[in-house]
Amino acid sequence: MNEYDVMIVGAGVTGLATACSLCRYKLRILVLEKNCDAAFGVTKANSGIVHGGFHYPLTTLKGRLEIRGNQLFGEYQKRLHFPFKRCGIILAAFTEEELAKVKELYERGKKNQVPGIELCSKERLLQLEEKLSKDVLGGLYAPEGGVVEPYKYAFALAELAEKNSCDIRYDREVISGTWKNSRWEIHTAQGDCFTSKYIVNAAGLYADRVSGCFGAEEFAIHPRKGEEYLLDRLSPARPSKVVFPVPTGHSKGVLVIPTCDGTTMVGPTAETIRDKEENCTTEINRKNIFALAKNMIPSVSEKDLITAFSGSRPAMDGEDFYIAPSEKVPAFIQAAGIQSPGLTASPATGEYICELLKKEGLTLEEDPSYIPDLPYQKPLREMTKEEADAMHKKDPAWTNIICRCEKISEGEIVDAIRKGHTTLDGIKLYTRSGMGRCQGSFCSGKILEILARETGRSYQSFTKRGAASFLTAGNLKGKEK
Ligand SMILES: Cc1cc2nc3c(=O)[nH]c(=O)nc-3n(C[C@H](O)[C@H](O)[C@H](O)COP(=O)(O)OP(=O)(O)OC[C@H]3O[C@@H](n4cnc5c(N)ncnc54)[C@H](O)[C@@H]3O)c2cc1C
Repeated sequence: MNEYDVMIVGAGVTGLATACSLCRYKLRILVLEKNCDAAFGVTKANSGIVHGGFHYPLTTLKGRLEIRGNQLFGEYQKRLHFPFKRCGIILAAFTEEELAKVKELYERGKKNQVPGIELCSKERLLQLEEKLSKDVLGGLYAPEGGVVEPYKYAFALAELAEKNSCDIRYDREVISGTWKNSRWEIHTAQGDCFTSKYIVNAAGLYADRVSGCFGAEEFAIHPRKGEEYLLDRLSPARPSKVVFPVPTGHSKGVLVIPTCDGTTMVGPTAETIRDKEENCTTEINRKNIFALAKNMIPSVSEKDLITAFSGSRPAMDGEDFYIAPSEKVPAFIQAAGIQSPGLTASPATGEYICELLKKEGLTLEEDPSYIPDLPYQKPLREMTKEEADAMHKKDPAWTNIICRCEKISEGEIVDAIRKGHTTLDGIKLYTRSGMGRCQGSFCSGKILEILARETGRSYQSFTKRGAASFLTAGNLKGKEK
């Protein structure tokens, strides 16, 4: 039972998109993830942008996969129903020097065949985005760029893969792999043993360590931290399109992002750090970010700030993605250095890894029982009054509001739990509960009650995000269990 054709390390967007590309074939696929849920690595903390395809040349793998990934997002959304909007991307120049760089990026965009890319005058840019500073001199417009909810996208990939018989095991840390009798024997820190014909290393910030566990290439992942600041949905600064500055060095700069769910985000920074787990935000970076964002959109204000977070890009020397068969060990595909635009590229990365596995000898035979899509459940906050009434008749829990800020119902929380999200953060990322203005002050206790009721477990057993992040130290008064 523990024998597979392909084993993927990591349930971030890279590993899960690979699982989704593979699960249309007659294969036994296993995904091992050391965290307790999908998308808890780099995938949970990013800007959520589906990039426009003009930042990188076609000579880079990330440039090619970004363009193909952008194209595939529409098709994936139709089948999997995650929040994604092609709101368009604007790049704004404020100096003559920046204008010259804009022209370079426009030429690159044309070469990359970015659909509808436009070189814009000041007037055209202000017509496209009225929130922009009147000091703007001109810029670029890429109408096919957009925004996505990265965790909902990742969860949808996981659901589709599981629906097509892919095994995803959480709380399983891969610690070693040995090539024996033309198969890999894989061990986890939790004591499991699996075998697989092929391995895909999609371990994000830890791809260097996982490569070492299999005796494959030695390389280093350098974490590059990005801080992001989330503004209330009532912020007047929310633009209609993603607003980029002209990029410098390795960074695309500080952006103003109209997130998929109606809030506004400003960020990220780009700072090389040592500790892969560092996730703090700092006052100095906050001040810098707001100053840079205000330069582009003057109505951006710290007064609207509701929360901040950071994540680290898994960067490698050379800056490109490293997706290739290992030259040192057999049947092993490296998918490392997947920094930005790794989210945008992910559907194309999955396809690309599938092709690499085929070239390495994996037989890809279409599975006639393949299910290509997921059922759609409209969130309560998007329902009309009539739809909500009909839902209430079916199950009153669907109109019992638990998270007031984001209008999330008990029915949606229960649905998340039944789909396997049993930590506070897992439920938050799946439903958006706790992501609004009060940041979970009102709903966290109620969610804990629903968790205990639905799972029959004790209050003390629940965590914020797995491991030892326990939510309560003793019994809640009156809720002894
Ligand atoms: C601040 C910031 C902003 C960004 N903005 C954008 C953007 O707007 N658009 C865009 O396209 N890209 C963006 N990116 C990049 C994008 O987020 C990443 O490229 C992408 O999420 C990488 O996904 P992944 O699956 O490769 O890695 P991860 O999501 O990190 O997944 C790897 C998984 O492997 C697991 N793992 C590690 N070691 C082991 C082991 N030994 N055993 C089992 N499991 C293991 C980890 O727990 C993790 O869940 C941004 C990144 C950052 C940090």
